[in-house]
Amino acid sequence: PSANIQKITNSKQVSVLRDINFTVSNGEFLVLVGPSGCGKSTLLRLMAGLEELTGGNIRIGDRLVNDLPPKARDIAMVFQNYALYPHLNIYDNIAFGLRRNSYHSSANHKELAVKKLSEDFLVSVTRNLPRSFRYMSAKEKSIRDRVRYVANLLQIEPLLYRLPKELSGGQKQRVALGRAIARNPQVFLMDEPLSNLDAKLRTQTRAQIVKLQRQLETTTIYVTHDQTEAMTMGDRIAVMNNGQIQQIDSPLEIYNSPANRFVAEFIGSPP
Ligand code: ATP
Ligand code: MG
Repeated sequence: PSANIQKITNSKQVSVLRDINFTVSNGEFLVLVGPSGCGKSTLLRLMAGLEELTGGNIRIGDRLVNDLPPKARDIAMVFQNYALYPHLNIYDNIAFGLRRNSYHSSANHKELAVKKLSEDFLVSVTRNLPRSFRYMSAKEKSIRDRVRYVANLLQIEPLLYRLPKELSGGQKQRVALGRAIARNPQVFLMDEPLSNLDAKLRTQTRAQIVKLQRQLETTTIYVTHDQTEAMTMGDRIAVMNNGQIQQIDSPLEIYNSPANRFVAEFIGSPP
């Protein structure tokens, strides 16, 4: 994707982002770092379509996505607080985005499943799934395969029929990653996905995200304010301060040739 953002003002007409111009290559892992309040989340939310652009353009491939709703952007976002649906089990949390094309989101999930059953031709009977999924349409069967694929990838198979509240923070974050991966989007946007995890789990999950990204080759923008994550995870780092990107370069380049004093101090370059 590429972003060219002239100015974004918040509800109080304060400028939050200014003169932002960058392009992320296909398959690239870009880490966006900067101090609290510099505009990282706002930038991601703009790209995801969760916030409105007041000037400039955002493109994904050759599509101008400025006016597209979030669902149409082919982006999956992973949030700091997991944002799982509390009333759905893990299987359904992961399947949710895959079903959304055919069902509309609704609290009454069972009713929809029944409706779907009567509409679709039944192609398979499966034993080892909850009763509501025993008779599956072709679409539901492909969803099941996809859920199993990501569950295996993230080693969360034993958790599939639990509710989010029955999981630890690290498990929930793996589910949130799984949900994003399941949709096979063109772009992952991750907003401090590890900040609620303890140090050990953070290191483990960090390595797992990097490995998965390499495997899937999905273009990723990963927000953190952790310098270690910035230096070790990405192909390039974008350092942000006060709503502007100060420098965007490889970790080594940024460390060795910081563009200004702010970047040097933030990254911890030797004076
Ligand atoms: P953090 O590292 O703490 O998550 P951030 O870099 O993600 O910070 P943003 O959340 O993007 O920062 O916020 C950028 C600026 O926009 C801040 O000054 C913040 O106070 C302001 N801001 C964010 N959301 C709103 C809002 N809904 N209304 C008004 N101002 C907002
Ligand atoms: Mg933020």
